[in-house]
Amino acid sequence: MAVKITTFPVGLYQCNCSIIFCDETLEAIVIDPGSEPEIILKKISDQGLKVKYLLHTHAHLDHFSATAAVQSKCQAAAVLHKEDMFLYNQHEAQSMMLGLPQTTITEIDQFLEDEQIFNFGKGEIKSIFTPGHTPGSSSFSLELDNELWLFSGDTLFNGGIGRTDFPGGDSNLIVKSIKNRLYTLDGDCQVIPGHGPNTLIGKEKRSNPFVRA
Ligand SMILES: [Zn+2]
Ligand SMILES: [Zn+2]
Repeated sequence: MAVKITTFPVGLYQCNCSIIFCDETLEAIVIDPGSEPEIILKKISDQGLKVKYLLHTHAHLDHFSATAAVQSKCQAAAVLHKEDMFLYNQHEAQSMMLGLPQTTITEIDQFLEDEQIFNFGKGEIKSIFTPGHTPGSSSFSLELDNELWLFSGDTLFNGGIGRTDFPGGDSNLIVKSIKNRLYTLDGDCQVIPGHGPNTLIGKEKRSNPFVRA
């Protein structure tokens, strides 16, 4: 398979933005264009990528503040779970709460469904609905050379889980999502969280202090 993943932290909160592309067709997907659109756009143009989708794990501002700027240059479809639209529309209040600059937003082109598949060249990525951190929080899984990769947003971190004290957060639901939808994945599955270092599903099942398998 000719699929490549580039992940890099952006912005004050160091949100992990990922660009995933097929190196034969150059079709690509961006997950969480959180900030610093010029850096994201440079990586896209340096490789001559054609971005089809801007996927969002959830609608906290640190995960979408570059969406409008990236979309204006690459015409990709912006995708977000419907349950997070209230947060997306509260971007001004989020700016104040998080101490981030005000941003313009773009229309969401498509609402994310559970187990929805997005194709890009020879690659495909699948959504997994994992509410709790926010009502619409979603993860994305990708098979790559017989390895499974998971983009877990702010649901599951290396040694941690997302906070649930923001509007719409639900501490019981996040535990349920992690147990039922993420810990059921292969233990060797590589996890790229919304912030911080990668981990493995197996490692989190064994040692995550917040959610025991
Ligand atoms: Zn968040
Ligand atoms: Zn975040």
